[in-house]
Amino acid sequence: MMNDPSGGRVRGSKTYEMLWDCQFCGTKGLLGKSQRFCPNCGAPQNPDSRYYPDESQMVEVIGHEYVGADVICPACNQLNGAKADFCQQCGSPLKEGKVANVLAAQQRAADGQFASSGPRDVVKEQFDAMMAQAQGSSGGGGSRRGLMIGLGIVALIVVGLVVFFGWRRETTLIVAGHSWERVILIDEYRNFTESNWHDLRPAGDNVVMGMCVQRQRSTRQVPDGETCTTVRMDQGDGTFRQQEVCSPKYRSEPVYDNWCTFSGQRYEAARRVPTSGASLNQTPVWGEPNLRCANQRSVGCERERGREERYIVRLSEPNRVHECVFNDQAKWQSFGIETAWKGQTRVIDGALDCGTLTKS
Ligand SMILES: [Zn+2]
Ligand SMILES: [Zn+2]
Repeated sequence: MMNDPSGGRVRGSKTYEMLWDCQFCGTKGLLGKSQRFCPNCGAPQNPDSRYYPDESQMVEVIGHEYVGADVICPACNQLNGAKADFCQQCGSPLKEGKVANVLAAQQRAADGQFASSGPRDVVKEQFDAMMAQAQGSSGGGGSRRGLMIGLGIVALIVVGLVVFFGWRRETTLIVAGHSWERVILIDEYRNFTESNWHDLRPAGDNVVMGMCVQRQRSTRQVPDGETCTTVRMDQGDGTFRQQEVCSPKYRSEPVYDNWCTFSGQRYEAARRVPTSGASLNQTPVWGEPNLRCANQRSVGCERERGREERYIVRLSEPNRVHECVFNDQAKWQSFGIETAWKGQTRVIDGALDCGTLTKS
């Protein structure tokens, strides 16, 4: 047993003959390893005509020693074993010789049957390869084209965003009205009960864990046997290797944990005290919070959590009214009623950038 490059376990490796058909006399199903010449007409084997047999035609090669793909003699086209330094037919050195092409590996699931991959039309394959090469050199690679389209789309989006937000014009606006909103946020100290995982205890005072139940919290992957496929690999020397490649399989399994009730006391958001006004003449004021037993840490007592304020100015164009919201009361008051201001509006949707307002 050994490992294959994809990480799976390999077993049952055996070597079989590739097949080839004689292009000259049409004899079919010749053996790639044992028949280097056509027994009928004597023509040499063309390594490009090799194909995988179907399962009924398989001929095992016993005791095969694989040394590498065949080398084609650059002088006479004779096939030579990978170990040879000189052509066994004409004696030319093989250093410059082309190595025989190999077919892509074939794969089947454990229960299927392999079909024959051939026979092959060598002339047509050469023609197709030439055409593909000619198109490739003129048109550029497909994945490269995809990349260019992708970059083009990104560039268009960027340009679109820049135009949308950046294309502006200056507009004159008249102050048409004011309003303000203030809110005091109030918490109440309360008893609480909440459920969570045992290790996710909520914050609070005197928090205790009550009942717990088992519940599914996540899933984990556990080994569950293996998946095997049989693979055939053309070795380029007139043989192919067939072997079973197995990789581990996993299934997901639920992981249980304790889901618990916690109880204790803590501050929770309880109520809001809002005030508002609709003109510059109504001076903004805060509401009266009237906190119950203010700031005592006992159930039912209240504290102030925070305050929020918004100051809104309405500005009008001839056929549109904008609203600008400020946090700064002094800024809001600087917009006198019916005074004129200049500001930038976006050309695409007409929205006003409140940060650009200046008195005109
Ligand atoms: Zn022949
Ligand atoms: Zn030769």
